[in-house]
Amino acid sequence: MKSAELRQKFLGYFASQGHEIVPSSSLVPGNDPSLLFTNSGMVQFKDVFLGVDKRAYQRATTAQRCVRAGGKHNDLENVGYTARHHTFFEMLGNFSFGDYFKEDAIRFCWQFLTEILKLPKERLWVTVYAEDDEAFNIWSEGIGFPTDRISRIGDNKGAPYASDNFWQMGDTGPCGPCTEVFYDHGAHIWGGPPGTPEEDGDRFIEIWNLVFMQFERTKEGEMRRLPKPSVDTGMGLERLAAILQGVHSNYEIDLFQALIKSAHDLAAVGTDPNNASLKVIADHIRSCSFLVVDGVLPANEGRGYVLRRIIRRAIRHGYKLGMQAPFFYKLVQPLVEQMGEAYPELAKMQTQVEQALEKEERRFAETLEQGMKILESAIADLAGDTIDGETVFKLYDTYGFPLDLTADIARERNLKLDEAGFELAMNAQRERARAAGKFGTDYNDKLAIDSETDFHGYDTLAEASVVIGLFSA
Ligand code: ATP
Ligand code: MG
Ligand code: MG
Ligand code: MG
Repeated sequence: MKSAELRQKFLGYFASQGHEIVPSSSLVPGNDPSLLFTNSGMVQFKDVFLGVDKRAYQRATTAQRCVRAGGKHNDLENVGYTARHHTFFEMLGNFSFGDYFKEDAIRFCWQFLTEILKLPKERLWVTVYAEDDEAFNIWSEGIGFPTDRISRIGDNKGAPYASDNFWQMGDTGPCGPCTEVFYDHGAHIWGGPPGTPEEDGDRFIEIWNLVFMQFERTKEGEMRRLPKPSVDTGMGLERLAAILQGVHSNYEIDLFQALIKSAHDLAAVGTDPNNASLKVIADHIRSCSFLVVDGVLPANEGRGYVLRRIIRRAIRHGYKLGMQAPFFYKLVQPLVEQMGEAYPELAKMQTQVEQALEKEERRFAETLEQGMKILESAIADLAGDTIDGETVFKLYDTYGFPLDLTADIARERNLKLDEAGFELAMNAQRERARAAGKFGTDYNDKLAIDSETDFHGYDTLAEASVVIGLFSA
């Protein structure tokens, strides 16, 4: 089943259950300064959950474009390393605004997966929030799901990969306990069931999250009850397509195979078609193109800086495969062929997207090669396993290497970055700029990719590295 058909099947099923089909909203949240990008289907309904916005319907279904690169949900550094993460993906969702709750949500989910899609039941696993006996009982007694494949999972605070059955949009906003469905791709793939130490592997892949929206977390950290208990679910279209197309990785589905092939055609002769950089490029062309469609342009701060980082990361991966810049913008056409029908705005803006990407590529091409030479020679001279902070800062400041780009290169070679040294170099530069009376560049700003948002930007590099996941490898 092609991804496009699957999208329609989902929307059609929920429409038949009384849900209004609502179009995807922009990647730039309309009136929400607390959020960098739309990271899930519920974002456009946030105010409805909070009870301050009313709609003509109480049930909705969407295929929502999402970006998870920066902010609370950030998968940038997973791309190219896992079978299941993208910076841009489509989330299929059904929503109840004070209408049905846990029982119907679970019943719809089960019916769609096992009756409409006919997924093999014995491959499915379920998690519930540790204290949620109600959800546990609906699965075990209502549905008859075997209890030895249901695990109870708590908050798991602080563990970036571990499952966490209390979902929150961001540091503030609607939240609640959830129940999730996983699919077992088989013993030939490394990984363990949810709730075990091996769950980070790609054998058991989470496909659907059903959130029981019951609270709002305020800026003060208080948990307020929502006016009406509601439901918000999200299922990754690409992960589901992989199952239905009989493949393991999202990158093997129809849409990605087409993009990877187009990228491969632009790579140096002899490039391995399975090279991970091709996946990274295929992933990044989607997030970058759709961000431009939604009005984001490369910049030195805020959302534009996230876009710049993703584009430059893609270009560096292309450089690694011998692609002569500019190449990235040439992938917009194949992307339009894959997604232009579902997203006419993409097709309509093709030229603008190509121009924006090509401009950024030309700009970075001027410094990429020289920066790479400096980095290579620093690595060649390396005594230990840590690239010094001065070099990392020079690459960042003079050659336009965003930190995560340098971290990505370091990770490929099992090296680390000298975080403290980078910070020192940055502070020294800031001091020099201040002394010279130049107030033009605030180096904090460049890091503060959440600077447009209410919740904290990065006060320190350490903080930035936690959020953008730089040094966790
Ligand atoms: P994971 O644990 O695999 O990182 P998640 O728990 O962070 O996923 P949710 O926030 O629960 O994901 O989002 C709901 C659904 O969206 C997931 O069950 C998954 O199918 C899909 N999804 C989440 N993140 C991504 C991603 N980066 N790329 C593709 N699909 C994703
Ligand atoms: Mg995640
Ligand atoms: Mg998860
Ligand atoms: Mg989840």
